[in-house]
Amino acid sequence: MKTIAILGSTGSIGTQTLDVVRANGDIQVCAVSAGSNIRMLESQIREFHPKLAAVWEESYARELKDRVADTPTKIVWGMDGLLELAAMPESEILVTAIVGMIGIQPTIAAIKAGKDIALANKETLVTAGHLIMPLAEKYKVRILPVDSEHSAIFQCLHGEESKTIEKLLITASGGPFRGRTREELKSVTVEDALKHPNWSMGSKITIDSATMVNKGLEVMEARWLFGVDLDQIQVVVQPKSIIHSMVEFQDGAVMAQLGTPDMKLPIQYALYYPQRRFLAGDRLDFSALTQIEFANPDQETFRGLPMAIEAAKAGGSMPTVFNAANERAVALFLARKIHFLDIYDIIAGAMEQHKVVQAPDLAKILEVEAGTYEWIESRWHF
Ligand code: NAD
Ligand code: MG
Repeated sequence: MKTIAILGSTGSIGTQTLDVVRANGDIQVCAVSAGSNIRMLESQIREFHPKLAAVWEESYARELKDRVADTPTKIVWGMDGLLELAAMPESEILVTAIVGMIGIQPTIAAIKAGKDIALANKETLVTAGHLIMPLAEKYKVRILPVDSEHSAIFQCLHGEESKTIEKLLITASGGPFRGRTREELKSVTVEDALKHPNWSMGSKITIDSATMVNKGLEVMEARWLFGVDLDQIQVVVQPKSIIHSMVEFQDGAVMAQLGTPDMKLPIQYALYYPQRRFLAGDRLDFSALTQIEFANPDQETFRGLPMAIEAAKAGGSMPTVFNAANERAVALFLARKIHFLDIYDIIAGAMEQHKVVQAPDLAKILEVEAGTYEWIESRWHF
């Protein structure tokens, strides 16, 4: 019996993690958590009997406490609550299914408490990879990727030595606007951007896929996870999301992981690694599959990818600025306060005004995050 705690159990990755738990029947969930969806949290508490549940806001936590007063589950809130959840003595793996940089501190707390991390929360590695990876090594914990591309690479690297990697080939669907011009993107709506062709995901990552910021974040995530240089990472557009990513080795061999798009596979692989288990679902049908298409990403229209690479090259605190500006811009777009293309302008403006601080510590990262939000508020009038 394995025991896991879930940061963000009511979201897309969180609920699919619980699907995997339900299907396998041999994982104990010791903690669940959410921002505000206490109705779903209540039903998760009644089904999985966790010892702890964390909610972001105190008022919601009080309401949840009343609702589940007949259960022994302890209710906590705020950052202290997330930190308590991350370091719970009974948990072996922390699933970071929370969205945004808010995941950094609980991830650090979990590593220091010796927990393996099933990492979906890419924003943490993008902004604090230089702190997280050495810390994981120091505390001898594993960072198990949940992001489908990184899981694919992780699967391709099974039994291989990382020094034999020539190149990582990260695949991208190109999102809902692939093939469109900049002019055509001027008037796209939130509804248009939320229609991802292959994956059903949380709203922030779905917008990130439409801007290609997501692929940029994934390049930065890959660099930390697999210890490669930026110029060893290539993004390849493969519109149907059948090839989840590939590794080219020094002898020219290319290994790929293929499958129908289903996040339960990478989630289950991370939870049981190195064991592979049965997973119900559709299989690829090679008798019906006539072709797999490839293209280069359109970096002029979808500036998310080149801007991320520029941030990664500048290093230090610049990925934090890139990420924080994107988080704020996506929230403004989802609130219908800015246009789709403004997302790029906000990120570019925030990066332009920032003076890089090399090797920022956690306090500096959080200060740069807050400073980026302040800069956006002061320059953009919504
Ligand atoms: P989502 O929006 O569906 O879910 C986010 C979860 O975090 C929810 O449970 C929400 O309640 C919780 N949360 C948000 N703010 C919180 C707060 N302040 N305190 C406590 N909990 C809070 O997001 P998602 O699509 O599941 O994505 C989660 C992470 O996984 C993101 O970093 C995303 O980039 C990454 N990811 C997602 C997918 C996917 O298929 N959805 C794929 C790869 C990577
Ligand atoms: Mg991905």
